[in-house]
Amino acid sequence: MSSLPPTPAFAPPADWLELLPACVVVIVDGHFRWANAAALQLMEADDAADFVGRAVADLVHPLDLHRVDARIRRAVEHAGTNPTTEFRVYTCRGHERVLAMTSRPIEFDGRAAVLAAFLDMTQRAAMEERLQETDRNFRRIMDTMQDVFYRTDAHGITRYVCPAVQNVLGYRADEIVGLPAAAFYPDLSERDRLVDAIRRDGFVHDFPGRMRRKDGVIIDISISTHALVDERGEFAGVEGIWRDISQRKSMERELERLASHDDLTGLPNRRCTLQALDQAIERRGGRRDTAPLCVLMLDLDHFKRVNDEHGHLVGDLALQHVAAIMQRWSRDGDVLGRLGGEEFLLIVDAADLDATLEVAERIREAVQGIPPPSRPELRLTVSIGVAQWCEADADASRLLDRVDRAMYAAKNSGRNRVCTSNNELSNRSNALPG
Ligand code: GH3
Ligand code: MG
Ligand code: MG
Repeated sequence: MSSLPPTPAFAPPADWLELLPACVVVIVDGHFRWANAAALQLMEADDAADFVGRAVADLVHPLDLHRVDARIRRAVEHAGTNPTTEFRVYTCRGHERVLAMTSRPIEFDGRAAVLAAFLDMTQRAAMEERLQETDRNFRRIMDTMQDVFYRTDAHGITRYVCPAVQNVLGYRADEIVGLPAAAFYPDLSERDRLVDAIRRDGFVHDFPGRMRRKDGVIIDISISTHALVDERGEFAGVEGIWRDISQRKSMERELERLASHDDLTGLPNRRCTLQALDQAIERRGGRRDTAPLCVLMLDLDHFKRVNDEHGHLVGDLALQHVAAIMQRWSRDGDVLGRLGGEEFLLIVDAADLDATLEVAERIREAVQGIPPPSRPELRLTVSIGVAQWCEADADASRLLDRVDRAMYAAKNSGRNRVCTSNNELSNRSNALPG
């Protein structure tokens, strides 16, 4: 092992201090007594006379002065090197700088003095200030935001969620951080679909989903989020925003209901009822459902007279009353709708003609026998046509035509009765006793 050659004794010449790129000053009695070229440059002094002789208190920022004074005193009193301290000064031209200073005691012209070295930290301080500003802005946005910003890691664990989550889900942000995001989805397959879409496309926009609130209520949400990747390009989680759209959804549902339902009776309207009939026939035609299918068409008798004699409001009441009776006689799977005016259609699911005639008869009897409770004097009767779907009925119109004719047969044979005119069962087609 070779040993290093002995270090020659070396005393740097004093003017090396002048050449030092670091800033060096000497302070005596609270005044700058000497400064090297780097210090004069940093302090924007035109020459040494511009700076030397100035009081420390003149150039150090007033809010930092007590700290700088304390360090200088400490250096003099404790004869040791002071740890670094940061403070603000004004240059000879009045510009603010941030300096990091270390200091130690020396003797200068036979007097106790402080030798201080410092570095310009202005740029780093400005960068820190900008970072803090960015951080403050981020927090302000997060604190005031109504939507929920969140971030999860590659394992789906929530790493950040903004405070708005409390208004929407009822949990404080700190109750959620650290938990799997999946814990708040009522149906895990919905979350799987979301994650699949994000992994496939890198992002989702307005992706529909649902979440469970702390009180158990399920809310509709819309998610816009993107995948995060780490420095190796690997999936590192997701980051984005979700929004409570329950109100929008319930408005959409209400609009949908208004467009498909009748205001007076609350029943499906003509369009919606015929759509249901089309679907029921489609299921039979495709042989996916082989159960029998019947329809029952009801029309109030001499309803114009009800209006004329009792007024339109009582007419409305009569319509609601008849609708309620029909509803009572329909079963799960049946569809009852108002075709228009005083005409109703009941789609009877999985019942044959006999069973449907029976239901029709019960309805007819009930309308005749039970007046609306608030108008016991009102006498109402109905005429009903009944038809069963058969394979020749390619679509709804043929079946509707037959049931319509059956209903008119009931009208023509005296009203307040039930008729059927099913083709295949024409031998049985007759008016039942009314
Ligand atoms: P028929 O026994 O031949 O069916 O005679 P009708 O008077 O019942 O038949 P028509 O078609 O001549 O009259 C139906 C009446 O139903 C006319 C119309 O003013 C009334 N109507 C339709 N819609 C409403 C409604 O929403 N409210 C009220 N009160 N009446 C209605
Ligand atoms: Mg009528
Ligand atoms: Mg009518």
